[in-house]
Amino acid sequence: MFENLSGRLGNVVKTLRGNARLTESNVQDALRDVRMALLEADVALPVVKQFIADVKERALGQEVIGSLTPGQALIGVVYEELTKLMGAHNDALNLAAVPPAVILMAGLQGAGKTTTSGKLAKRLKEEHRKKVLLVSADVYRPAAIEQLKTLAAQLDVEWFPSDVTQRPVEIALAALDHAKRHFHDVLIVDTAGRLAIDEAMMAEIQALHAAIKPVETLFVVDAMQGQDAVNTAQAFGAALPLTGVVLTKMDGDARGGAALSVRHVTGKPIKFIGVGEKLTGLEPFYPDRVASRILDMGDVLSLIEDVQKTVDEAEALRMMKKVKSGKGFDLEDFKLQIQQMKKMGGMSALLDKLPGAGQLTELANNQASDKAVARIEGIINSMTPQERRKPELLKASRKRRIAAGAGVSVQEVNRLLNQFEQTQKMMKQFSKGGMAKMMRSMKG
Ligand code: GDP
Repeated sequence: MFENLSGRLGNVVKTLRGNARLTESNVQDALRDVRMALLEADVALPVVKQFIADVKERALGQEVIGSLTPGQALIGVVYEELTKLMGAHNDALNLAAVPPAVILMAGLQGAGKTTTSGKLAKRLKEEHRKKVLLVSADVYRPAAIEQLKTLAAQLDVEWFPSDVTQRPVEIALAALDHAKRHFHDVLIVDTAGRLAIDEAMMAEIQALHAAIKPVETLFVVDAMQGQDAVNTAQAFGAALPLTGVVLTKMDGDARGGAALSVRHVTGKPIKFIGVGEKLTGLEPFYPDRVASRILDMGDVLSLIEDVQKTVDEAEALRMMKKVKSGKGFDLEDFKLQIQQMKKMGGMSALLDKLPGAGQLTELANNQASDKAVARIEGIINSMTPQERRKPELLKASRKRRIAAGAGVSVQEVNRLLNQFEQTQKMMKQFSKGGMAKMMRSMKG
């Protein structure tokens, strides 16, 4: 999922990241590429237009053009707008109703309603300790009723019998009555779909909705349908007061456009995504995580959280300023940095989350084990303050003295100095690229 989109946007990101200066014209170029990438991913045209207009307005403003690292600031804007487009945050199920909380499943045939009913039942039972009742109101396909019964048995969740001679409303009301009398927390009502939108189906599900007054009306839609998913969502949204959307088959080769369009078009939150045929294949939908996945940014958000939790920001800024002012990054800073990396769970954990930093992981692994950190500290502690500020003073005799002082070999001192040099280079790069800046713009 999202591979193509991610690849295309990744290229835009790469081009921009290197740009020290953004002008109106290279912003236009970048946005043209973003637009193409979204259209190819099957994002609905009105959504693309609105998205590009929003990004453009911000991109041509001070926030981006006026910033020290405009390329990254622009990526930050694209990221934020993508997140916003998909709903900004995760919307959980609302089960606050007087029990039983009724969940009505709506959608076309084959969208994944029955499977999703099972997945939800599993989730509610196992994670929320809810007593769930499942019922099928699909009186047109006996196989659908059987399918739900089988799922219920697998999950050891109670199933309310129904058959094709009954009317859907009658089935649902009987199940509701049973759920009340047997103290079920949640009743999930699976319904009949059709191959395409049709009036009889809409009338039937509207009647069901009116009869059982669900607290959640979930529209289930196959992400692989692309543009059609959006049209169907619109039709269901017009007929029913939907409370949320479940996008299924996100594990397939869907181009991802539905995920980007559905929220905008229906105004309803995507609450879950289906990521497999198995009952475990259901995940809450997090717009920010999906956006960072699309932009191939690694898990930038959790990185920012880590940094906020552990790094003294003033200290980090002081270090950045120092590097920028040309004063250089010395061994004292190196020691501080390594101590902070350790606090963050090791540099490799940190770098994993940074986009494109994979090749640095090995270096990080060498530096970040607790033992290694202690040895590095030991070596640096054995240096005089002057040596720490000016590592170039460290010739053979000084190295021997330091090695002896720290109880390590001269090779190890050399290795540390090597690592220090590499880190120094990396710091210069980051300060040029403005990692701190990027992080600040992401927090926005
Ligand atoms: P319904 O007609 O809406 O009830 O749809 P079903 O629940 O019967 O699902 C139709 C088909 O889609 C079945 O073969 C399911 O196994 C499959 N399916 C449902 N959800 C997912 C999903 O998230 N990923 C994949 N790969 N297949 C799914």
